[in-house]
Amino acid sequence: VIDVQGLNKSFGELEVLRDIHFNVKEGEVVVIIGASGSGKSTLLRCLNYLEMKDSGEISLHGKRVDERKDKLNEIRQNIGMVFQQFNLFPHKTVLENVMEAPLQVKKMEKDKAAYKARELLNKVGLSDKEDVFPNRLSGGQKQRVAIARALAMNPLIMLFDEPTSALDPELIGEVLQTMKDLAKEGMTMVAVTHEMRFAREAADRVVYMHDGRIVEEGTPEEIFEHPQNDRTKKFLQSIY
Ligand code: ATP
Ligand code: MG
Repeated sequence: VIDVQGLNKSFGELEVLRDIHFNVKEGEVVVIIGASGSGKSTLLRCLNYLEMKDSGEISLHGKRVDERKDKLNEIRQNIGMVFQQFNLFPHKTVLENVMEAPLQVKKMEKDKAAYKARELLNKVGLSDKEDVFPNRLSGGQKQRVAIARALAMNPLIMLFDEPTSALDPELIGEVLQTMKDLAKEGMTMVAVTHEMRFAREAADRVVYMHDGRIVEEGTPEEIFEHPQNDRTKKFLQSIY
């Protein structure tokens, strides 16, 4: 679905991503792990052009991304993104939050958008909350609305950047479960997370980043049980 070749990104003097080669196949669940500052978020942000890369190539569905400004919105529509902070519209109800992008961006008919939004709210287990405003939701519920909202655009791929990091511990499970359900349905996903259990249970592939590079990647078993690289070993020791 997505293929990255030789991607580099610097902020001023600081090289944040160095020669990244990365691809995600249809239906694959990839989990990115690595220390703070290793470039995980920047990589996700480059994938959907929230951040412009300095060099390298990104292809989506086998087609090299056309980086002209007016084309980038199309790219972003195809890539769903869920952040640590939920960024829901506070003055819109849950249903309106999920309908917003299809209405505004896709110019979908209101009835159709509402139908689709209800379907998605049902999927994330929030059918009973459609008329509620975000400030009445728990963090876990907000994040599930954010997931439904991203799905409303029918993305080719979903990117998650530490979706459970802002949540109280007892709310993490419901969001991870929603992500697992999505994975089971065959959604193509890339998730940056510190939830190693999720990585073990849901990931097809785990990618370890250090200092702007992909140092090692493999199945959860390969990475967690038999890491090859000393950096990976050290990192895993530091978090267990
Ligand atoms: P964390 O686990 O803490 O979220 P991360 O792996 O996601 O870390 P990034 O957020 O990608 O790391 O940041 C990588 C490096 O780039 C860091 O040193 C960070 O300070 C720097 N950086 C990120 N965004 C910017 C920016 N907009 N301007 C300048 N430097 C930035
Ligand atoms: Mg980050």
